[in-house]
Amino acid sequence: LKDFDYVAASSVEEAVGLLAARGDRARILAGGTDILVQLREGLQEADLVVDVKKIPDLLEVRWTADGGLSIGAAVPCIRLYRDRRIASAFPAVADSARIIGGWQIQSRASLGGNLCNSSPAADSIPALIACQAQCLIAGPQGTRTTPVESFCTAPGKNVLSRGEFLLAVEFPPARPRSSSRYVRFIPRNEMDIAVAGCGAFVELNERLDTVVSARIALAAVAPTPLFAREASEWLAGKPAAEESFAAAGQQAKNVVRPIDDMRGTIPFRLQLVAVLTRRALAGAADRIRQQKT
Ligand SMILES: Cc1cc2nc3c(=O)[nH]c(=O)nc-3n(C[C@H](O)[C@H](O)[C@H](O)COP(=O)(O)OP(=O)(O)OC[C@H]3O[C@@H](n4cnc5c(N)ncnc54)[C@H](O)[C@@H]3O)c2cc1C
Repeated sequence: LKDFDYVAASSVEEAVGLLAARGDRARILAGGTDILVQLREGLQEADLVVDVKKIPDLLEVRWTADGGLSIGAAVPCIRLYRDRRIASAFPAVADSARIIGGWQIQSRASLGGNLCNSSPAADSIPALIACQAQCLIAGPQGTRTTPVESFCTAPGKNVLSRGEFLLAVEFPPARPRSSSRYVRFIPRNEMDIAVAGCGAFVELNERLDTVVSARIALAAVAPTPLFAREASEWLAGKPAAEESFAAAGQQAKNVVRPIDDMRGTIPFRLQLVAVLTRRALAGAADRIRQQKT
């Protein structure tokens, strides 16, 4: 591990100033479960590591009066799935937080770190896209927001520019008769990287038999996590039944660009997209029906 300076920033302004001054020689540290491994293995280099865990704004979970939610970027996974209100309003996010590593990792690993590491296989990102989350970004010019589906640009790359970092992830209020689900396939029972993953959001009509709106997002089947927009929009007005969810799963295959690697072949990943999409949609719809009984 090469030497680097370490600063624990205590405010957003201090972190922005340090990042702007040191440019691409500075790296952010939240839980450290990705960045410390990458620095040690020489996959990343830094002269300065800015720890953002001491900035109070980044550790806040805040609800707005209308039921919107803001999760500070450094909030660890364990807080997300242990929080009953988050798990009830945005269950796909809790699903993903619960399976990121084991509990030791979950006690450190942050939602913001998972997003900013920008792995194509990151488990939280499809869940965030499905739940229509937005990134709140701080930088030298103040703050800006961007939808999570536009955040990642390539494996390990995202839209953050010099001096910018992720402040929080923001969610619109959960709609009535809506829910979400994240599922992934891994060859072992736990502690592995997704061969493919799917986050789905479903909103049903009052009779709970028709889809009003849906969102499907996929991991590990393209250079970035993907929003399957056409398949999502196609579902609006369709019966909330297995046949519709299976058909949406077939359509979702049209937008993916999987690779062959040691975890899975291209045909296998395509098959997983169809199966996981159907299961995530059906799982979200089941959750809505359970709320009603
Ligand atoms: C044993 C093990 C198992 C794992 N299992 C999984 C898994 O099942 N699924 C999965 O998706 N991941 C997994 N991971 C990867 C990792 O734990 C997650 O990606 C985690 O959420 C990263 O969060 P962190 O706070 O530790 O990020 P860090 O390591 O602190 O940072 C990650 C990256 O994001 C940047 N960053 C962090 N916070 C910010 C911010 N606020 N603004 C801008 N940039 C920022 C850092 O500079 C760095 O590039 C695993 C890792 C380990 C070691």
